[in-house]
Amino acid sequence: MTITVISNPVCALHNMDPDHPEHPNRLHKINDQLISSGLELVLRFADAKPASIDYLELGHDRAFVQSIFDKAPREKSERVWIDDDTIMMEHTLNAALYSAGAGRTAVDQVMNNETMQAFCAVRPPGHHAGYSTSSGFCLFNNIAIAAKYALETYALKRVAIIDFDVHHGNGTEDIVQGDDRILFCSSFQHPFYPFSGTEYTASNVLNIPIPAGTQGEKYFELVEPWWEALDAFAPELIFISAGFDAHAEDDLGHLRLVEADYAKITNRLIELAKKHSQGRVVSMLEGGYALSALSRSVVAHLKAMLV
Ligand SMILES: [Zn+2]
Repeated sequence: MTITVISNPVCALHNMDPDHPEHPNRLHKINDQLISSGLELVLRFADAKPASIDYLELGHDRAFVQSIFDKAPREKSERVWIDDDTIMMEHTLNAALYSAGAGRTAVDQVMNNETMQAFCAVRPPGHHAGYSTSSGFCLFNNIAIAAKYALETYALKRVAIIDFDVHHGNGTEDIVQGDDRILFCSSFQHPFYPFSGTEYTASNVLNIPIPAGTQGEKYFELVEPWWEALDAFAPELIFISAGFDAHAEDDLGHLRLVEADYAKITNRLIELAKKHSQGRVVSMLEGGYALSALSRSVVAHLKAMLV
């Protein structure tokens, strides 16, 4: 199995505030852990390229994309608040373009058999960005755009997105709901930000709310319906919204997962990928703010892909 880690130094230039949890050190710490774990030696690395406007419009409204470009600060000290938690500074737009663009590189490499799996170590994250909205640290919806791109460009009929971030992937749901070519599975702490995912859902969405304090064993009982649904759907490519903020050490959530749980989820998804999608998996970083737990969990996620 080959895994390619796709990133770009521009993603680390986006710095909302030294105290903001969505901080460049997230990527630095992941890099350090890949080196100290020895995993770096068996991975391939590739540079993300910036997303084009046409590419962003696969998942977003044209006027919305333009509005993000218009809001982007031009002065060094300028800050533009998108919501209470999401700030644009001079490098944010560029970082968001590389972050989204990584998804395109990942899909191209996986679909052209240059790699079996790809992990996009990028920020800002994307799963709270909806068709015409940005929020929750997210500008563009990296994973939903990549899924639409794969369907359009490689004439796939079915792809799945699995989102195990502690927060509901409300932006992804907004973009993919009603598109029966995409099965979207999201587990999330509930009730919790962004307080969505438990009311009406389209038939291609499988939301699993999880009570605060849940540990791995109970978590796997709750997400059991995913595996049968994914097996029946038989996706030709599997996308993962890989947020690691459901980790027990992460203060932004209150679930109690550990590295072994992320390895187990990944193993299940790799099994499905081998059965239905020639092993093809594109994983993109979402949340995860306890730096040590985040980086250890990423290593567990990638090691499980190698099996
Ligand atoms: Zn999150």
